[in-house]
Amino acid sequence: MPNPSEFEVIERFFTRASTDASVIVGIGDDAAIVAAEGRLALAVDMLVAGTHFPRELPARAVGHRALAVNLSDLAAVGAVPHWATLALSVPSAEEAWLSEFAAGFFTLADQHGVVLIGGDTTRGPLTVTVQLAGAAPELPLLRAGGRPGDRVFVSGTLGDAAAALELLERPASERGAEEAFLVQRFCYPEPRVALGRALVGTACAAIDVSDGLLADLGRLCAASGCGAEVDLAALPLSDALKARFARERGEQFALGGGDDYELCFAGAPGDVAKIQALAANALTRVTEIGVLTAEPGLYGRRGDRTVALAATGFDHFASS
Ligand code: ADP
Ligand code: MG
Repeated sequence: MPNPSEFEVIERFFTRASTDASVIVGIGDDAAIVAAEGRLALAVDMLVAGTHFPRELPARAVGHRALAVNLSDLAAVGAVPHWATLALSVPSAEEAWLSEFAAGFFTLADQHGVVLIGGDTTRGPLTVTVQLAGAAPELPLLRAGGRPGDRVFVSGTLGDAAAALELLERPASERGAEEAFLVQRFCYPEPRVALGRALVGTACAAIDVSDGLLADLGRLCAASGCGAEVDLAALPLSDALKARFARERGEQFALGGGDDYELCFAGAPGDVAKIQALAANALTRVTEIGVLTAEPGLYGRRGDRTVALAATGFDHFASS
């Protein structure tokens, strides 16, 4: 059977019957039209094969991640995601690949009430761009707003995805349970949308951790005009990461590795118990990992020793 045409690809893999009342015009016309109220939060993220994910990553994971990275950005400002557009460049219209990709995308979209309302499809190097729009709260969580003395928190566990990148080359059949868990964390990050929403009005500043904790906490600190001290022993590492790697290596993954898609945020010391209650309500693990400081720079504390941490992380334009 010949590969489907561009029209057939859109029709078969991306057009679904939608009953979403906000969508006035969806896929099939020149522009989508939605009924929106109040403030919109908008984010777009481009995933380039070979740069943002390995070329051989399963198509289902590519579809999941392309949406997840944008959900994570909206989560970081406390917005409620709703409408997505998808620009897809694929080398060829391979049906098996497209159907798995769509399954990954729509499974996550359905979990978050996100509807796909348009996009663009073209032949070219594998690149997936998703734009996501949703309702922004009146007082969004921003990178600025942290103050010295605020406690620093992260959701979930850190470093799993970075560790997985080292393991992805090995055939799936040779992976043990721990390695499979880490690879799963890379392939199917869980954007912390419920947590982000819950923190609106309580957290002082927030950012999603996509380029590594140090890089992203460094950005929150720069925007807030402060520094941070991180208790290295408090870094939340998954059991799998701890079992598979030495503690120090695990910490390196947690501090410098990317692709976690967890939230890092600051809250007043008097709100620690409230933040833990909000997190529990959002069914999301949250760990206090340090404190914002008046003097700039990132420091790590190990017992009573303090070490300077370079704010490195993934940067596409940094020379290597
Ligand atoms: P145009 O020439 O107006 O850009 P296209 O032929 O590119 O129209 O797209 C036709 C319709 O299909 C449009 O509504 C567009 O938004 C939608 N569309 C195209 N590609 C995708 C995709 N990958 N996912 C969702 N919708 C898509
Ligand atoms: Mg088009």
